[in-house]
Amino acid sequence: MEYEPVIGLEVHVQLNTKSKMFCSCGADYQSAEPNTRVCPVCLALPGVLPVVNSAAVESAIKIGLALNCEIAELTKFDRKNYPYPDLMKGYQISQFDVPICHDGWMSVQPEDGPEARIGVTRVHMEEDVARLIHVDNVDGRSGHAHTLMDINRAGVPLMEVVSEPDIRSSAQAEAYILKLQNIIRYLGVGTASMEEGSFRVDANVSVRPVGSDELRERVEVKNMNRVRAVVRAIDHEIERQTRVWESGDRVEMETRGWDDVAGATLIQRSKEEAHDYRYFPEPDIPPLEIGRAWVEEIRASLPEFADDRRTRFQDEYDLSEYDAALLTTSRATADYFEEVVAARDLSDVDRSAFAKEAVNWVSGELARLLNAPEGPSEIDQTKIKPKQLAALVALFQARTISNANARQVLEEMWSSGSDPDAIVKERGLLKVSGTDELLPVVREAIENNPNAVEDFLSGKETAVRFLVGQVMKATRGRADAGVAADLLTQTLEEVKSAR
Ligand code: ADP
Ligand code: MG
Ligand code: ZN
Repeated sequence: MEYEPVIGLEVHVQLNTKSKMFCSCGADYQSAEPNTRVCPVCLALPGVLPVVNSAAVESAIKIGLALNCEIAELTKFDRKNYPYPDLMKGYQISQFDVPICHDGWMSVQPEDGPEARIGVTRVHMEEDVARLIHVDNVDGRSGHAHTLMDINRAGVPLMEVVSEPDIRSSAQAEAYILKLQNIIRYLGVGTASMEEGSFRVDANVSVRPVGSDELRERVEVKNMNRVRAVVRAIDHEIERQTRVWESGDRVEMETRGWDDVAGATLIQRSKEEAHDYRYFPEPDIPPLEIGRAWVEEIRASLPEFADDRRTRFQDEYDLSEYDAALLTTSRATADYFEEVVAARDLSDVDRSAFAKEAVNWVSGELARLLNAPEGPSEIDQTKIKPKQLAALVALFQARTISNANARQVLEEMWSSGSDPDAIVKERGLLKVSGTDELLPVVREAIENNPNAVEDFLSGKETAVRFLVGQVMKATRGRADAGVAADLLTQTLEEVKSAR
């Protein structure tokens, strides 16, 4: 019998609001000293009341709308009770039966495979828990382990995005994750980083005979901190469960953890040990009415997302699908690119030629500088304003400066923020392409390099390339290499016929 995978993802997305979900403590838990973002509310001391952070509610609505969800008119919070050291309160404020967003969908396009529509069951709001840091050898004494607790993270807004069990392969799961990350970043509501822990994925996996629509026992896999790990964990589970069913056994409903080194999932707890959360309505927070006018206002403020933008870039600037996809991966990069192009007032034809050259600079040299360890790594934080890059691209495109010099100018712009025209003028980098200016330099190169001239005369035409190099050197890279090569060949031919 052939089996097919059935996968549903639960993703916890941390929001980057200024303050926490239910108190006024700063939510910047990572940049602060441990345990300095704490108050009686996030510690749930007796007699204090939580207050809902409206910025977090707005972010939740944004995410819901981006995922084509219905937004509840009336929503409420519930207590989820469980004992764990990272939850001092003994309960987490979450949402149980009436989540803020429900019944949405996302279309995903894996690299090799058809487009698929994945249902989004719900998006609900909750609060993060404290961070436990396990220290192995306290004081260098082995076996003397401690667990440190940082309460800064407790109460930071967390959204849980739950998908329907519509995903049919690890490739679709990967596409779903990447797209959700992209949406969160386009909205600017979170960093969506698996490595930093601001985007945590649990994968529910089962398999069933192809053609059946039953939902069999599923396994929930946790502890994956990279997209790659999610893909491997899902593939491992599909294989393992298929083997179990094929051997006539049953798959057990359980929670398993991914072990990246072993390349396998390991059992964490069985169904019998599953928590009973004893959910009940949070008595300290009244139900929340979400006004329709507010929802529509938020809907109108949503950005153009990557998919639409990619298509538009192909249409409007005549870019290849590859270039359009590259630029729209980050909203900041796409914005920057559009500002570069908008800085020049060009006809349609000229604009698409200019846009192609601009792509080369944005995704080439500028990306290289952003990737270097020193200096900013975000395009919207460089000293180079889009207008300035546009001026450089124009200089280069008009062949006013050479390729090598244009790159030098960009580096100078990167460190000083100066205008390219000023740098070109100051350094005397204007390209020399006039015969009057270049001929004396060409003659000098020929006089100073008799060996190369002899090489040429004995039939080695590659000697011209060496001489072009000499001309470039003498002009500090300003010579037009093509013109220099022509002049050299011409002059050498004259020398040849004079012999
Ligand atoms: P719980 O409340 O126990 O977490 P849910 O019914 O809310 O369970 O489902 C959690 C996740 O598991 C959802 O993403 C859902 O799509 C997925 N899921 C449910 N049943 C299955 C199944 N048989 N196989 C794979 N995934 C499933
Ligand atoms: Mg669950
Ligand atoms: Zn607090």
